[in-house]
Amino acid sequence: MSLVATQAFVLRSYKLGENDKIAILFTRDFGKVRFVAKGARKVRSRFGAAFEVLTHLRILFHYKENRDLLILDKAEILFSPFEHQTSLRIAYYIFYFSELINEFYPDHEKSQDAFTMLLNIKQALQKHQNLDFLARYIELQLLHSQGILSSVAFCSQCNRPFESLLEKRYLGLQTEIICRRCKTPESVVLSAQIVKSIDSFEKGSAQWAGTLTERTIDELGSLNYLLITRFLGKELQSTKLRKFLV
Ligand SMILES: [Zn+2]
Repeated sequence: MSLVATQAFVLRSYKLGENDKIAILFTRDFGKVRFVAKGARKVRSRFGAAFEVLTHLRILFHYKENRDLLILDKAEILFSPFEHQTSLRIAYYIFYFSELINEFYPDHEKSQDAFTMLLNIKQALQKHQNLDFLARYIELQLLHSQGILSSVAFCSQCNRPFESLLEKRYLGLQTEIICRRCKTPESVVLSAQIVKSIDSFEKGSAQWAGTLTERTIDELGSLNYLLITRFLGKELQSTKLRKFLV
């Protein structure tokens, strides 16, 4: 057992009995970890508002191997996303991003990519950057890094490379991109703009943001959401907030 200091972002928290809370944190050094925060539900808790989603924390805890729940000793707030921004749109994105990372990463698996993503989200909130852009970027990054969305370079069924960006691609029953010869009546055609945007993302092109018009942002958002729910096999909780957005 050793005392550990690291940084973390809050992905979720919920009540535990009368006085305590369970907080699911994405830590820099240990990946996703579940903590018990003793006394966190008391009015004058030493944890204060530390467990609002996406709060950036400096934490102190005793590390024990093979434990599902660890005791959190200390949590100091480095950044609180709800401090200045209270619009429903921003609140939605805060819940959406934290839910995505919570769903996509298993417990106790360190991921520098995921922690960097969380730091980028924090920066975007601080600098009032465009969260729609950021959402599309994070969705594509998650879908690609986990090998969920197949490449737009070739048909994932017959492995034939597509002739050009103009050749039609279809989305199969799950998350696979297929060609006109392999499509079924249930397949959905992808628009040329979407194909161009995903291709640019796959190539790591600096021009990627330039492929996103307002319409493409919405279209790509719907496609990504479909892929995410097909992969997870369920709707996201944060979707309930989404319908209040105009
Ligand atoms: Zn094919």
